[in-house]
Amino acid sequence: MTVKIMPIMAALAALIALGCAEESTDSDAENAGAAAPPTAIDSSPAAANVSQARLIAADEEPEQWMTYGGSYDETRHSTLTKINRDTLADLGIGWVYDMKKPRGVEATPVVVDGVMYVSGSWSVVYALDARTGKELWTYDPKVSGEDAAKGCCDVVNRGVAVYEGKVFVGVFDGRLEALDAKTGEVLWSNVTVDQSKPYTITGAPRAFKNKVIIGNGGAELGVRGYVTAYDTDTGDLAWRFYTVPNPNKEPDGAASDDILARLANDTWGDTGAWTTDGGGGTVWDAIVYDSVNDQVLLGIGNGSPWNPTLRDPDGNGDNLFLSSILAVDADTGAYRWHYQTTPRDMWDYTATQPMILADLPLGEGNAPRRVVMQAPKNGFFYVIDAKTGELISADAFTDMTWATGVDENGRPIEVPAARQLNDDMVVLPGPTGAHNWHPMSYSEDTGLVYIPTNIWPLIYSRPDPENTVKSNWNIGYRVDAGWPLTIPAGGIEDMRSMGGGSLLAWDPVKGEARWAVPFPVPFNGGTLSVASGLVFQAHKGGELVAYDAETGERVWSHGLVGGPGAAPMTYEVDGEQYITILSGWGSTIAMVYGVVFEDAVGPEMGRVITFKLGGQETLPKPLENGIARTPKSEPLGDDALQTKGLRLFAANCQWCHGAFAISSGVLPDLRWSAITATEASWDAVLREGALTTRGMVSFADRLDKEETDAIRAYVVRQAWNAQALDEADAPKATAADMAAH
Ligand code: CA
Repeated sequence: MTVKIMPIMAALAALIALGCAEESTDSDAENAGAAAPPTAIDSSPAAANVSQARLIAADEEPEQWMTYGGSYDETRHSTLTKINRDTLADLGIGWVYDMKKPRGVEATPVVVDGVMYVSGSWSVVYALDARTGKELWTYDPKVSGEDAAKGCCDVVNRGVAVYEGKVFVGVFDGRLEALDAKTGEVLWSNVTVDQSKPYTITGAPRAFKNKVIIGNGGAELGVRGYVTAYDTDTGDLAWRFYTVPNPNKEPDGAASDDILARLANDTWGDTGAWTTDGGGGTVWDAIVYDSVNDQVLLGIGNGSPWNPTLRDPDGNGDNLFLSSILAVDADTGAYRWHYQTTPRDMWDYTATQPMILADLPLGEGNAPRRVVMQAPKNGFFYVIDAKTGELISADAFTDMTWATGVDENGRPIEVPAARQLNDDMVVLPGPTGAHNWHPMSYSEDTGLVYIPTNIWPLIYSRPDPENTVKSNWNIGYRVDAGWPLTIPAGGIEDMRSMGGGSLLAWDPVKGEARWAVPFPVPFNGGTLSVASGLVFQAHKGGELVAYDAETGERVWSHGLVGGPGAAPMTYEVDGEQYITILSGWGSTIAMVYGVVFEDAVGPEMGRVITFKLGGQETLPKPLENGIARTPKSEPLGDDALQTKGLRLFAANCQWCHGAFAISSGVLPDLRWSAITATEASWDAVLREGALTTRGMVSFADRLDKEETDAIRAYVVRQAWNAQALDEADAPKATAADMAAH
């Protein structure tokens, strides 16, 4: 695939000030979020009756889906076979449940004994009858708009854990909460982070041996990463492991003290941004319990700030344990082993992407060998011995420009120019990663791993001291890096064909691709493989598709409302097999770039959509945006003012409100917003914080009046520009467009 520079990625390089916290403008949606009094589950006297023994033997109960990844090994492979190539034609929608809140949905539901536990945006938890979608209870932890503004990537949540009658949820503002699985009542609630810092939680907790473990995110904004394990019954802290040293290199009184002193401290200098901002290394997604080796595998994120010459200026060390896979003892949190995928990370190459445990024929004489597999952002597919941490193989699963391979010591062979902050060096993968959080699956039958991949490059440029932006995004690169477009360019067509992705079937033993289905856009959904020889994946174009697991042949599809990114899962109740996918609109890249995927509709509700054989239900029509797509002000200022506004918009606004001020529909499209009509209404929101309760906080401490005026001039210009380009009604990438590829 030919790839042009992705100017939208300037959004990511840009120092983005806000976390896209704004809620729907639909006040009904907000009111509906107030949880009704919990109702007991009459039919389920032992709700969430999941024990350690039952989890370890999950293979014997394929009708359940008891953890985020389907089992402790997180293969996301099911041995259920009632839905297969012969019956696919009868697969239709069995039920649809509308969540209480708009915004992105990323969760994989858990299903135990006929009850589905699933989380949606704003960390709301839902218990549903898995046969019918009937609501049993909901729990809303009431995340505030101000706390929501701390996030980088929408108020999403990827799932819950269940264990011995409790449901555990990581709340966006840093809480970990235990709910009574029968009623949704809070049994205990712990604040797991310093809430004065920009920590957030979007990942799913995991439960094992009477412990529940959670990490956190925030490395784009300046935090120090760690995970914490708590007692499932009492909520008491069991152990904590920090992934990077304490800034003063002193002990924390944590499980990580010894190994940080032995291995990590000397890989960091004594000055620089890491000593004030925490260094990053957040564990925001993959945490996998390895029951065979009784250890927990942590996927560790990028450095904070990204730019290592600012993060750690007087050192040249590897900055352990950034961008590493690290194993700790399940009981104590004591270090076992680590493998660092990207020493001294500088490209946001997190290694927190999903991990899968499996036995592959990689032992002596092709004997089974227990391995952990990961396809992190940096584009290498890693196969590592789960017991020892020995690197078995690292093969590029995507085109890359930053490295040419991995040497005999397991270190990437870097292309020197990729580290030189050179304006001409297009780095691939970019910070969205060759693979992100979207779960991959592994089929024992085919021996293949099914990976949703992205292609999206970036130029990483030196920070410009003349052009610093006061913001709480903190990555240390120039804000207009890779931004070739100037006024008047900046329409939807400029956003297209600059990236892509694929569904990749990867052979982890041979270290090579078996087949790939290319897509015109990145960030498609996670995968589910089933023993009947199928792989299911949802696409941003708004459909769920089944592929032949051996060949990649597209064999079935069904439309969805919204642009899904979550992974499908499957379960069986009363002899009937179901497949569930969450669909909504929002999350990460959709907010800045989403108009390419989908029409600029009003905020779409998150939905739980469940398929079954013979299902006859239909989906609701997409929400319509009733706002007139006309400029609300005459053009303001000259090219110079509008160009200044463009740069400021890129630095401060576009991650939430869309590149070129073209909203994906998750948050209001400012081009058509009434607040652009007058200086007074614009200032009321941007400078006085009139919409703070909805999460749109004042920018008065970051932007002066001249700057907010310039942004308004740019936004109004873009409204007129859209009319001139005949793009006021945004075209959408439809399911048919996706199928054509
Ligand atoms: Ca990151």
